[in-house]
Amino acid sequence: MRAVQYVQVGQAPVVNDVPVPEPGPGQVLLKVTAAGVCHSDVAVMSWPADAFPFRLPLTLGHEAAGVVEAVGENVSAVAVGESVVVYGPWGCGACRECSRGMENYCARAEELGIHPPGLGAPGALAEYVLIDDQRHLVPIGDLDPVRTVPLTDAGLTPYHAIKRAQHNLYPGATAVVIGVGGLGHVAVQLLRAMTGATVVALDVREESLKLAEQIGAHHALRSDTQAPGAVRDLTGGAGANAVFDFVGAQATVELAAKAAAKDSSVNIVGIGGGALPVGFGAVPYGTAVETTYWGGRSELIELIDLARQGAVGVHVERYGIEQGPEVYERMEEGRIQGRAVVVP
Ligand SMILES: [Zn+2]
Ligand SMILES: [Zn+2]
Repeated sequence: MRAVQYVQVGQAPVVNDVPVPEPGPGQVLLKVTAAGVCHSDVAVMSWPADAFPFRLPLTLGHEAAGVVEAVGENVSAVAVGESVVVYGPWGCGACRECSRGMENYCARAEELGIHPPGLGAPGALAEYVLIDDQRHLVPIGDLDPVRTVPLTDAGLTPYHAIKRAQHNLYPGATAVVIGVGGLGHVAVQLLRAMTGATVVALDVREESLKLAEQIGAHHALRSDTQAPGAVRDLTGGAGANAVFDFVGAQATVELAAKAAAKDSSVNIVGIGGGALPVGFGAVPYGTAVETTYWGGRSELIELIDLARQGAVGVHVERYGIEQGPEVYERMEEGRIQGRAVVVP
């Protein structure tokens, strides 16, 4: 089968021929119907050889949708032919965090060498992908896999962040979304569907601000040094009750802190490498600063149900598998609107 692989540190990914895997006991083989391409892969591929944590070659792609092609022994929750999406942040399945569905915070995954598909285990940018356990599969019925697959990361990550901040997102509150890209444009829609808060979107790209307005942001403003003042003007001087930074660069985490109200939350989701000093007086009183990683298994099930209600629509650009390497190039150049999805 054809697979988009990262072969050598520092080199662009290529499309290779690799064998189709066979499902062992408990495993499920999916024929990939759609695979989302995530910006975090660009960061992963910039890591130096001596700090690179995964074995190469690595088949990329950690957003997977597929049709069950074959099942191993003792698989009963899904049947051949069923259309599913894949929960990506695999854990041990048995620790306390895993038992409540938060496998993204599994205490033992690292120690046991358990990796998500595309981030250590062979990923979804291929014709087939092997899934370690049936519990990672969420049936999607007749939902379009191409539009649904980004929900497994670009949707689940903001969903998880928003749920954690929901106590701050009462009607009349203000939420700020920094970066209306793959994750941020889903976050805007989720905030509208899940909360009564006023949504302010910030971005440096004119097209992204237009998109933010189309998908429900109450205000779409340029993300610059004027932005915190503009957020304060919109909130009677108070600031935002919850800020979600999907960029995470130094400039944006500082912006996030300046836009935050007292007793608010700042969530740094983006992996831009920025850091916010937290200490008495460094952020507004009562403000919680946190980072989150991906989301929970039960949260993905909830999010797919929300998608069934039509509450969230992902803007996608379709590509063939041979275009995989080109997608990463376009991504690095900021030339993808919404989410790029490879359809093998
Ligand atoms: Zn990702
Ligand atoms: Zn665990």
